[in-house]
Amino acid sequence: MAYAITQTCCNDASCVSVCPVNCIHPTPDEPEFGTTDMLYVDPQACIDCGACADACPVDAVFPVDRLRGPDTVFGDLNRDWFRDHPNDHAWGRPSFPRSLPGEHGVLRIAVVGTGPSAGYTAQELLRSTSAEITMIDRLPVTGGLLRHGVAPDHQSTKRIADSFASVFHDPRLRMHLNVEIGTHLTHPELAAHHHAVVYAVGAAADRRLGIPGEDLPGSLPATAFVGWYNADPTVPADAVELSAERVVVVGNGNVAVDIARILLTDPDRLATTDIADHALAALRRSRVREVVLLARRGPDQAAWTRAEFLALRQLPGVDVVVEDHPEVRAAIEAAASAAGAGADADPDPGALPVAASLVGADARGALLAGLPLVPYDGSAEPAPGRRIVLRFLSAPVEVSGDGRVEAVTVERTTLVDGERAETTGQRDVLRAGLVVRSIGHRGVPVPGLPFDERAGTVAHRGGRVVDPATGQPLPGTYVVGWAKRGPSGGIGANRACARETVEALLDDATARALPVPGPGAGRKDFERLVRQRRPDAVGLKELRAVDRAERERGVAEGRPRVKLATVSELLAAGRRR
Ligand code: NAP
Repeated sequence: MAYAITQTCCNDASCVSVCPVNCIHPTPDEPEFGTTDMLYVDPQACIDCGACADACPVDAVFPVDRLRGPDTVFGDLNRDWFRDHPNDHAWGRPSFPRSLPGEHGVLRIAVVGTGPSAGYTAQELLRSTSAEITMIDRLPVTGGLLRHGVAPDHQSTKRIADSFASVFHDPRLRMHLNVEIGTHLTHPELAAHHHAVVYAVGAAADRRLGIPGEDLPGSLPATAFVGWYNADPTVPADAVELSAERVVVVGNGNVAVDIARILLTDPDRLATTDIADHALAALRRSRVREVVLLARRGPDQAAWTRAEFLALRQLPGVDVVVEDHPEVRAAIEAAASAAGAGADADPDPGALPVAASLVGADARGALLAGLPLVPYDGSAEPAPGRRIVLRFLSAPVEVSGDGRVEAVTVERTTLVDGERAETTGQRDVLRAGLVVRSIGHRGVPVPGLPFDERAGTVAHRGGRVVDPATGQPLPGTYVVGWAKRGPSGGIGANRACARETVEALLDDATARALPVPGPGAGRKDFERLVRQRRPDAVGLKELRAVDRAERERGVAEGRPRVKLATVSELLAAGRRR
């Protein structure tokens, strides 16, 4: 019986590199890798060895005959992918570790950030070179978006942290936490003590809607909402107020889906996760019954991935409905019929047809087939029960209220050229007590590094940071992850991204193009400088103590961990080591 990859696939392709028969696709060398939601096992070629399941960092791979409940669809999904992409792929070219010039001793490389892109970068460097790594993070705890972004009910995704933990504990790696580049140390100081610096700082800010009322109390960016439920110490425990019955989430990507799911999931289920204690308590008291997901374009332009949307459709005790609108209905019907959904038509006259084949369909709209299409009046009380309303072709134009959010005005749009949203001028008011703006992240400039304002990323070419005025690389300075590519792609996408940046760095090392730290700029000198500038800096021992403290608190409550949610609590737990 073949294996199949399921919902939590992280796309980092660890499975691809261990498969002895090259039956997992698309591989990072294939064009579809850049756009695929997940990877697939070809059941015809799979020899059932289980190497992929052992290598998967997020426990997403299972024998097809062991798939249960909502996961059973993934057997078909894996098989069907190869119907459209015949598995006649040749093996990729073999690659061999390179030898680096040794005249300047061991390379010392600083990685700024400790999230997924930093983890993959350090892993790649440790595996392929004898380099020593310095890791730096502004927070007193590691993980970046793995800790403070991935939703708490996605615990298997968080398991990637286990593979990074072994990287962080490598004897060639030193950790300096609670240290910010640009505040406690400058880029030139960091660069002077290392042959190279790799910035893995993510995209910490949010895109702006640019509409009146955007900053009223009760209108939050997704980073604040997600940080709140994930115990990000930069987000206060009382940042979110859940006293209204309706919440509007602007945006239609995976983060918006995460937020809608967390708002309506039974708190007893969340109580088995590592959700922040303050968020769990607030969700237990929450009056929220309806979440409106506001998409400015149509169903086929949704930015969520299939697996995440399927999980949303199956949320226990929550109805998912679509606001009925002729253009939306037509888009769903067209996508469903292209996917061959006619045969399993749903008997409910208000519902569209649904079929297993929809799951593999190219157009996102097909996944909405079978959901009730309902007339929707956002100025009225929410309907009884708990529900998610998918409202397409609706762009927010104003957030309003007397001192705090009370309503969102939306303008109806229509799709032009099957792609672009154009306003029709028709306006509606949705009454809501909370608005979450989930329209994507944006990079924040790192002091001392060139910033590409248009892309919201560090200016770079293939991972080498460049001066935009001259196009010349800044010697020994690199970037990886969302700070390099912009804020898109799941965790696993960072593995290929890190490989590209590390390749560029090693090419430069081989070409003897890296700056060499001078006398008085060794590892110990750097550590002395950190202690002097940031007496509150913490390292691996403190990190271990925090981890132990959180896990111990978790054991008592039957949870993986109970997170410490403030900088002072984290520092105190670290000191108790
Ligand atoms: P995203 O995927 O870029 O989605 C942003 C959404 O906001 C889109 O629907 C976009 O619509 C909409 N939007 C942008 N500007 C808007 C505006 N001015 N008005 C109204 N809507 C606007 O961003 P994200 O959801 O923050 O996710 C970031 C990345 O993290 C994604 O690659 C995502 O897949 C990944 N992620 C993955 C998971 C997971 O795998 N479980 C979980 C969380 C995040 P348009 O298309 O019309 O621009």
